[in-house]
Amino acid sequence: MAATSLQELFVEELRDAYDGEKRLTKALPKMAKASGSDELRAAFTNHLRETEGQIKRLEQVFRTIGEPVRGKKCDGLMGIIEEGKHAIDELDGSVLDAALIAGAHRAEHYEIAAYGTLAYFAEMLGNDKAKDLLGQTLDEEKAADEKLSMIAKSSVNREALMAAGTEEPMTRSSRGSGARRMASTSSRGHGSRAMASDRSRGGVRGNAGGRRRSRSTRDRR
Ligand code: FE
Ligand code: ZN
Ligand code: FE
Repeated sequence: MAATSLQELFVEELRDAYDGEKRLTKALPKMAKASGSDELRAAFTNHLRETEGQIKRLEQVFRTIGEPVRGKKCDGLMGIIEEGKHAIDELDGSVLDAALIAGAHRAEHYEIAAYGTLAYFAEMLGNDKAKDLLGQTLDEEKAADEKLSMIAKSSVNREALMAAGTEEPMTRSSRGSGARRMASTSSRGHGSRAMASDRSRGGVRGNAGGRRRSRSTRDRR
């Protein structure tokens, strides 16, 4: 249905945001589980809680305009989440963490754009209640984005990422020690498959291989 007025466009954009948040409540637990850093995992888990609140807020906004609560497939976040799934399948260790952060930044920026627009539309439509609710979510998305930047730039994260780019043999004290052995003996296939492609392709995936932590190691934490 094509929107022919600002009011209709507002409803369409609300539905898009609603669908996007619903998708994120499914993606965030997977991103948390895939995280190799406690801080990153905590950030994703915390943002999952916030996202649940954002869904409640959107439901309230629908109510202010007497529209049924309904989502409409958000192709944008769907694509960003899809890219995140590829990262989880193909990467590991601190390089995976960096890719998860990169993907999460994309999601937050997409949402910041969406809620900034929605809050502005609500203001244009004279809907103060909706403007307030959407503004609260906008602030949360901005804070989540800044938190991701802080984690990405934290010394622990930078050290892990730089270590992942070196080719020297691993030391006992290094992050994910024992990972290579576990990955190459893994019967689950994932680690060894990725390792094999590391050897043939080199590049980022090759670098990640050195400090790889197997899926089973992550799951146990
Ligand atoms: Fe959100
Ligand atoms: Zn969308
Ligand atoms: Fe968000």
